[in-house]
Amino acid sequence: MRYLDEYRDAGLARALAARIRARATRPWTLMEICGGQTHTIMRYGLPELLPAEIELVHGPGCPVCVAPLEIVDRAIDIAGRPGVIFVSYGDMLRVPGSASDLFRVKAAGGDVRIAYSPMEAVKIARENPARPVVFFAIGFETTAPANAMAVSQAKREGLENFSMLVSHVLVPPAMRLILGSPSNRVQGFIAPGHVCSVMGYQEYETLSRDFHVPIVVGGFEPVDLLEAIAMLVDQLEEGRADLENQYSRSVTRTGSEAAHKIMDEVFEVTDRQWRGIGPIAASGFRLRAEYAAFDAERIFGAGDIHVREPEECIAALVMQGLKKPVDCPAFGTGCTPERPMGASMVSSEGACAAYYAYRRHTAEPGPSV
Ligand code: SF4
Repeated sequence: MRYLDEYRDAGLARALAARIRARATRPWTLMEICGGQTHTIMRYGLPELLPAEIELVHGPGCPVCVAPLEIVDRAIDIAGRPGVIFVSYGDMLRVPGSASDLFRVKAAGGDVRIAYSPMEAVKIARENPARPVVFFAIGFETTAPANAMAVSQAKREGLENFSMLVSHVLVPPAMRLILGSPSNRVQGFIAPGHVCSVMGYQEYETLSRDFHVPIVVGGFEPVDLLEAIAMLVDQLEEGRADLENQYSRSVTRTGSEAAHKIMDEVFEVTDRQWRGIGPIAASGFRLRAEYAAFDAERIFGAGDIHVREPEECIAALVMQGLKKPVDCPAFGTGCTPERPMGASMVSSEGACAAYYAYRRHTAEPGPSV
């Protein structure tokens, strides 16, 4: 297949669903890691195409959802300071902190600006030399190269007013946590295609071997996902646990050499706190010491804010495949996109947002491919 339309072809999707139905002889629980994949699954009603044996649960691959409350509170603290220009991706603005959100900081007169790339923040810093400009660098491995490039560029230009509030997380340590948990239900993974296009899939080979679990690197269109599910079901039914690459049009084993180079130059691996889940060792990036002058937490002394997550939100259980968004008592009532209690309801990659947008009630079938 060469064109995007072919990956949304209803005939191909039905043929793959038939292949899965013919192959599945017993229940299998599969997890797609990436929130973008979750949204495709819900938008195209893929669960309704699958046989009852196949249960899809939704993984932790939504960077906004796993950003801990304390980093949101640090962002709110910095954004509200006089003179600061705070630059963020749009979907962070509605994410609730413990008492406020960035949208309210903006409404109260804070200079909070939406950007689509970190280089826009560098440009703003260049144009406003007398004001501190802070970019909120949230994301998985996918956005790390662009963020690293922005910091490197700011250093080359000597932009002393530019800094980053970094909350980068890494997928494999989170998968290791899920697989190592006594309550784990996941028997096969669809690995995140975009992350793997940057990083390659060597680490996933190790995971597959260590936990004897099948992993298929998957794309983001409905046919991609159904093909990845079919590949996982084939492996499970045959008792195999291999790493396979469904998304070979974008992903190679070693990923992007240029991306690795710039990430290694600017970032180093660190422990990170995951929203609701807690600390995961070696699960994120932070700026290297050579780039400390661009570290917003150091500059603004905002690193000592620690807060408790709201107990009502079960998003952490959803992201570990233990619950579905509709199992949350607040889903669609106390928690809606207009009045979110958790980040998963407002992020463009959140599982709760996907369920709310495409299938608000369990009994209501979603749109068909
Ligand atoms: S519906 Fe809202 S409160 Fe419930 S898990 Fe999702 S984000 Fe959290």
